[in-house]
Amino acid sequence: MERRHFLRYLGIGAASAGISACGQESSTAAASCEETTQETFEWKMVTTWPKNFPVLGTGAEYFAQIINEMSNGRLTVKVYGAGEIVPAFESFDAVSDGTVEMAHGSAYYWKGKNPAFQFFSTVPFGMSANEMNAWLYFGGGLELWQRAYEPFGLEPMPAGNTGVQMGGWFNKEINSLDDLRGLKMRIPGLGGEVLRKAGGTPVNVPGGDLFMSLKTGVIDATEWVGPYNDLAFGLNDAAKYYYSPGWHEPGTAMECIINKAAMAKLPADLQSIVRNAARVTNSYIMLEYAAENKNALEELVKKQGVEIRSFPNDVVEKLRELSAQVVSELAEQDEFSQEIYDSYSKFANKSKAWYKLSEQAYLNIR
Ligand code: CA
Repeated sequence: MERRHFLRYLGIGAASAGISACGQESSTAAASCEETTQETFEWKMVTTWPKNFPVLGTGAEYFAQIINEMSNGRLTVKVYGAGEIVPAFESFDAVSDGTVEMAHGSAYYWKGKNPAFQFFSTVPFGMSANEMNAWLYFGGGLELWQRAYEPFGLEPMPAGNTGVQMGGWFNKEINSLDDLRGLKMRIPGLGGEVLRKAGGTPVNVPGGDLFMSLKTGVIDATEWVGPYNDLAFGLNDAAKYYYSPGWHEPGTAMECIINKAAMAKLPADLQSIVRNAARVTNSYIMLEYAAENKNALEELVKKQGVEIRSFPNDVVEKLRELSAQVVSELAEQDEFSQEIYDSYSKFANKSKAWYKLSEQAYLNIR
């Protein structure tokens, strides 16, 4: 009997909240209000990162948390680390086939589905984080991305950006292109294809396996993200030299992918909450990197004794040439890839002229 009273109390409470929140002007408003206040949804988000991994995993948690808050608990999202429901690199399929409703990762992990997806992560010697976001939001990039994922029943949205990454961890110095020959390196996406052209062997390893792979010699070198994330995995204990800059990942976009059928089941306001939570998460992650990388760099150099190196100019020039080849070959694979390439490169080239006079000019003089 007490339980019955408790439920009745809850029912009355919900009804009162509905009236005060929505008003009673019209029957239509009341009906749609009732629908939005009473229907609840529970979603699962798988990620390609270890649970609560700094910035990436915690960013996914933040994403879920603000959806929960903004929807007042009508849409709750539970976050799963890599391997908890599916392995990291099966996240795309898990969302596509409806095993889970959403995932947090990056588009280049799915290049096996379509190599053109890599344009939506980053392009070697391509756009910075700001430029990439400008292209996605204002330059038609997001529409192209949506078209690319349409056949898989997925809606993509930008949900984080690493900014310029570091060039990676090596146990020998890179003094010429010859030093990349025969090198087995964890380097995903188009940067990996550039390494292949330079005579190396690119492999992809989920973040959580990087340290052991490098420590045990399964791979000779690796890149991951930047000081904060690389320190978190202890990569400084597995390699001697830390190279700058991340020519291969100048502003890597994280993505949120959502099962379109699941999205369609949400009322319009919840759909808007999900899309706008992704926008907030997009900048949240980018800014947390900006805040933390500088501290971690100091720790790596001053306390851990890491030796920082820069790629020599002639190595950079050669890598730039090879990158242009890799990207134009990718564009040639089909008409749609060409369309994405044209959109990306047109935006990037114009932006380069402006950034040369603004960000780049300023950074050179400060
Ligand atoms: Ca990386």
